[in-house]
Amino acid sequence: DLRRNCMQDFDLRTTRLNRLHDLLLGPDRPMRIRTSQAALASVLMLASMADMYLVAWYGLADMYHVVLWSVFCTLGLVLVFGLIRSGFSLRWADPSLAFGQMLYAIACNAVAFVLAGHGRGISLALMAVIFMFGMFGMSMRQVVLVALYAMLLFGVAMWVAMEQALTDEPAVVYAAYFFMLLIVLTSSTILTRRLGLMRAHTRKQKAQLALALEKIQLIATRDELTGTANRRYMQELMREEIQRAERSGATLMVAILDIDYFKRVNDSYGHQAGDRCLQAFARVVQSSIRTTDRLARWGGEEFLILLSDTDFALALACLERVRTQVEQAVVAMGEIEIRITVSIGVTQYQVGDSIEQTIDRADLALYAAKAQGRNQVVSV
Ligand code: GH3
Ligand code: MG
Ligand code: MG
Repeated sequence: DLRRNCMQDFDLRTTRLNRLHDLLLGPDRPMRIRTSQAALASVLMLASMADMYLVAWYGLADMYHVVLWSVFCTLGLVLVFGLIRSGFSLRWADPSLAFGQMLYAIACNAVAFVLAGHGRGISLALMAVIFMFGMFGMSMRQVVLVALYAMLLFGVAMWVAMEQALTDEPAVVYAAYFFMLLIVLTSSTILTRRLGLMRAHTRKQKAQLALALEKIQLIATRDELTGTANRRYMQELMREEIQRAERSGATLMVAILDIDYFKRVNDSYGHQAGDRCLQAFARVVQSSIRTTDRLARWGGEEFLILLSDTDFALALACLERVRTQVEQAVVAMGEIEIRITVSIGVTQYQVGDSIEQTIDRADLALYAAKAQGRNQVVSV
């Protein structure tokens, strides 16, 4: 009991945590990816702000300016998160707002460069962090644009810092900083390109895999000659349908079809003509049953139909239609016209039966149909 209580407590807590998580980050996966990325960027920005406060605390920067600056930066972070989390950003081409976030972060960072005085080294490191984020969300063209924009803003920031003589360092230091900035921007651009190529490669591989999987599924579930479901797939379908029927109480019928005197077709016209007959037979049967009924090649010239959600009378009428359509169909092989007939045994799935028991009963009915002269439907 104690154990159960503990487990319930734990479950309750995890559901509450999950709910909080959903509330903060959003209900669906694409949204959560965007919001969690924005949240991570915000946490890093907040940490950088704390660093600025440290610089101001020791008198290197003007505290009043730093406070104003940090309020401005925080408002931007809140705005971006709000736009993404509310789903408002979905109406724009890039709902993750990567480009806008970059422009904003770089502007904040350029101002920080001016404000931080001797502590301004931090803004170059932050620049590298900002571009690391950009690598994931931006196209190559956007990264180049942002890099030019960053060069412009930092050029202005450096000029302002020099003009206002905020620091007493020689001008060559600024040249060194600018050179460092160029290194950060160039390497980020190169890495963005590499990441883009890797992403494209992964996308292509994923598409190829999906295609291959589709092909494999087709091969694994279809009969090559007739295109109907194969025996293995039908067994799977029957397991599923039986479970469904047991839950809902719906009726399920299984019919086994065997072409009459098929050996004679092969013997008279050849194996290839026999194959053509099998294909034609599958087509005729398929077009005579409902789309919800499933046809499979059970082996050789034997087929199986799974009729779900039907009653006995309806199923019999359907199979009788199959029988007549087959009887009336003509397979033309050049000059020759081949006609075939089919015998059908059908039974209803009874709750508690195994698949094998059901099929054995249908087989018995089929045997009776053959014994009674073929070209008929027999039910048990
Ligand atoms: P009945 O069922 O009416 O008793 O007579 P049948 O002649 O159909 O009897 P049986 O089931 O013994 O013969 C089935 C024949 O079907 C034997 C085999 O040569 C032929 N067959 C099975 N699979 C294929 C196939 O893939 N292609 C062709 N052409 N013939 C096949
Ligand atoms: Mg047979
Ligand atoms: Mg046969």
